[in-house]
Amino acid sequence: MTTFSELGLSPPLLEALADVGYEAPSPIQAQAIPPLLEGRDMIGQAQTGSGKTAAFGLPMLQYVDPEESEVQGLVLTPTRELCIQVTQALRAYGRRKGVDVVAVFGGAPIRGQQAQLRAGGHVVVGTVGRVLDLISRHSLVLNACRFVVLDEADEMLDLGFLEDVERILALTPSSRQTALFSATMPAEIRRLADQYLYDPALVRVKAATLTVDTVEQFALEVQAREKTDALIEVLDAERPDQALVFVRTKIRCDQLYRTLRDRRLNVRALHGDMTQGARDGVMISFKEGRTPLLVATDVAARGLDVTGISHVVNYDVPTSPDVYVHRIGRTARVGRSGRAITLYEPRQRREIEAIERHAGVTLAPWVKDARVAPTPVHPKPRRHSKPHAAPDGEVALRKLVIGGGRADGLEPSDVVQALTAAAGLDGEAVRNVRVLERFSFAEVPALDAERVVQQASGARVRGVALRLELARG
Ligand code: AMP
Repeated sequence: MTTFSELGLSPPLLEALADVGYEAPSPIQAQAIPPLLEGRDMIGQAQTGSGKTAAFGLPMLQYVDPEESEVQGLVLTPTRELCIQVTQALRAYGRRKGVDVVAVFGGAPIRGQQAQLRAGGHVVVGTVGRVLDLISRHSLVLNACRFVVLDEADEMLDLGFLEDVERILALTPSSRQTALFSATMPAEIRRLADQYLYDPALVRVKAATLTVDTVEQFALEVQAREKTDALIEVLDAERPDQALVFVRTKIRCDQLYRTLRDRRLNVRALHGDMTQGARDGVMISFKEGRTPLLVATDVAARGLDVTGISHVVNYDVPTSPDVYVHRIGRTARVGRSGRAITLYEPRQRREIEAIERHAGVTLAPWVKDARVAPTPVHPKPRRHSKPHAAPDGEVALRKLVIGGGRADGLEPSDVVQALTAAAGLDGEAVRNVRVLERFSFAEVPALDAERVVQQASGARVRGVALRLELARG
């Protein structure tokens, strides 16, 4: 078992990690942090939800000298949403060390961002276009930038930003350290890595291999604030003999434990901040069946081998498919069958999909009366866009960029529907729909394109107001 301090992280970063409540490195962190601390370039293949931000962020922050006022680290992101998310994470990790992190992204006044840069940022997190803009205005100077991260590089490629990324890289010192993170590795991204990275370490979160066939697996979508109620509803309906409830952090472990205790449930907590004696006491009580409900973090539950566990509930989505498999492997021991239920927030749908893909499992939607009439474990119905056969007499098409993607719960058929409904297009006219994490693309007849953008902008699909633009080029 690896700890953050064994990875070579410095005390102020370790303290910040304790503040945010992370107990142990996620798989991508355990693999990526040591080579990055050695100064190596890196290609990381990992999804959102794996903990990749800390995987590159902690080594970057370790090398920042807060006494120097220059920009020492740069993270490029494809979108403004990711930019904000990464900035918030890096601020939390760098707080104890006094590292200033500035976010720069389009769609917000440039003046304020220029002022923040003048006031001093040790690390800049930015979208590609805005970073270039600020460089051209001499507001952002990268001469002293020693550490550059390209985050979600495949999305940058899809959005047509690769040339701009190269332009930015050319403006940083050639002695810089470079890390490229991408969920997929298309040829263009490999070429970029070949050209701009030096002897990179390759790190990927490998797919889990354990079989968990005897566990019936379910997922339940809930809003963050309704999680506790959903958990109680699940426990009420499932009536487990013994249930192990997983949370991501020690802090959340304590909070959930108190909430459940206050609701008069017979519950204990298990996390890494407890004394060995207290942990042993809880383990024994759980093994002997005296504690029916245990809330635990991943680390604390390691080595917990209890045959009576009938249910595993993932109150928090696991940080990787591996962790998922480990967690649910706690039930269905020795020939028994078990049930695993994973709660997730709407924005985590893609994390669930990644788990399904990499762990090779299917999570059926959990329904309340599942115990009475078991839900067969069947593949989730996935809708696909209709194949849009090209009609005779090819029409010129124009590509649209749609702000909204898998992260918002969009599926190809939603895009088709939104465009046809809002702009009065025939379904066949919408072609080549691709839904990515945060963006989608579709092609429509060039003659209709501008009108579609005008009429379909703001149309609401699955609660998301669509933003539409004509694609560049
Ligand atoms: P990321 O993939 O970087 O977007 O991280 C996904 C989520 O996992 C974020 O909410 C992080 O705060 C959380 N997270 C990252 N690393 C850890 C860790 N070692 N332990 C617990 N949670 C983590």
